[in-house]
Order: sequence, then C-alpha cells, then structure tokens
Amino acid sequence: MSDYSIWMLEFAWVPDAPTSSLVYGRHNVGNEKLPYCYTLLKGHGKTILLDCGVNYASHGREFMERFNVQNWFSPKEVLAEVGCTPEEIDHVILTHAHFDHMGGLELFPNATFHIQQEELAAWVSMMALDMIYAVQLTREGRMRGIDGNVDNIFPGIDVRIARDTHTAGSQYVVIRNDGKSTSDDVFVYTGDLLYRHDNMHGGIAGDPMYLPVGLAFGSQTKLIFATHEIMKCADFDMRRVLTPHEPAMTNVYPSRTTKNGHYLIEVTLAEGQQSYV
Ligand SMILES: [Zn+2]
Repeated sequence: MSDYSIWMLEFAWVPDAPTSSLVYGRHNVGNEKLPYCYTLLKGHGKTILLDCGVNYASHGREFMERFNVQNWFSPKEVLAEVGCTPEEIDHVILTHAHFDHMGGLELFPNATFHIQQEELAAWVSMMALDMIYAVQLTREGRMRGIDGNVDNIFPGIDVRIARDTHTAGSQYVVIRNDGKSTSDDVFVYTGDLLYRHDNMHGGIAGDPMYLPVGLAFGSQTKLIFATHEIMKCADFDMRRVLTPHEPAMTNVYPSRTTKNGHYLIEVTLAEGQQSYV
C-alpha cells in the first residue's frame, strides 16, 4: 500500500548537455539530452513538491538562455497534467540551490520551502542571485533551514544531507511509502547527487561501479559515499532511486508524453488516487 502518490514531471530540457558533466570522467564523447524535472507527492493530506524548477523571467531567463534550456512550461501547465495547481502546493523540499531546482520559488505562493541551512548559508556567502528571494522568504518564515538529517519532516519522509558533494549542503529525500521505520517500500529522490543510472552502475554490465556526477563543487569521494548511502536506503534496487535528470526513468515506470512534449512518470499511486497516465 502506498501512502503517497508520486509523479516525476518533466518541465523543460537541455538538448545538448555535455556528457562529461553528467558522468565523471566521460570526456570527449559529445552531448546528450538532459531533462529537467520536479517530483510531486500527494498523501497524508499534503501536496509536496520535491524541487521547484525555474521561472522563465529575469535572471531565470538569463540562466536558461546561457545553458540552452528549451521547451520550458510553467508549473501551472505542467501540474495541470496531474490535476494540480501551483496554489495547492503546501511544501517544497529543495535538494539544493541550483537554478533548475530552486529558481521557481516565486511560482508557488502558498508553499513553505525546506532547504539545508548549510546550503543556504554557503550560497548566501557566494551572493548567488537566486538567494535574494530566498532570503526574503526566510524573513517571512516561508523558508526553513534544515539542520542535517531529519526523520519524518512529513509523515514517512526523511531528509538526508550530503555535505560538500554536488553543492555544499545538498540533500536527498527518502520516502518510506508504508510509513514504517524499517520500510521495504522506500523511494529515494536524489536531486543532482545522481544524474543518470550510469552514476549507480558505471555502465559496465557484470562489473558495476559507482561513477559520480561530473559536475561537483565538492568532493568526488564524498559523492561516491553519498551514492552508496542512497543505494542502501533503496535496498540496492535502482528502480527505487528517483533521479530527476534521467530520461530512462520513463522505462522504469508507466509514463506518457504530454501535449507539450514532456514526459510524465507515474511512480506509484496511493489508494483511491486516479491515474494520470
Ligand atoms: Zn539539476
């Protein structure tokens, strides 16, 4: 039985991301499509978004043009595919403060945001543009700094910090979908601690190894340990590791293509929840 329904929603893509940025050491093999996704959870009377995308306005627009982000659609349009609106989002758990995960703060007027304190502090000290609105939300009490690992931030949902990895204070989200403390129904939402399935197995059949993401501001060694912790949480079942930048997720769970050309992945449905696929 599932406590939460889970959908992974593509909202834009980069057609030509360098493969070397996605899988460490894979240089000079060209570019590949990089989808941008956020993930919607519905259950326990809550509507929770994991990361909040980017707004195609002001500096968000500058970032998107610089990184060649294409086919962006607003959360209003993307969430409509699963019968939801931006106003209905109560909470957003931010895995880290990159523009494609945190640039959509202004688009969710009723949400409270949850980020690791260390991530916020590190970026404020680097004076990242995205932080201006984040600091304003902090003043309003709508941006909450999380201090490390927290169990049951919402029923059955734990956050785990991975310090000094993709960013200073990245976190991943563990969803125990039967609510049990030693659950055998766990999903892990990785943020950018993993980009691709290749980060979990190295792409070599029969001789799997961890190959960390290519883009890391912190330590590659710590990324390998974080990958191992994520795998342990998911009981080494790669299907349960939800990676928002991995287009092959569409082969793992039921999915469909929306009218905007994005994919929508239905990971699991709580009891009584209609399917949108
Ligand atoms: Zn990202």
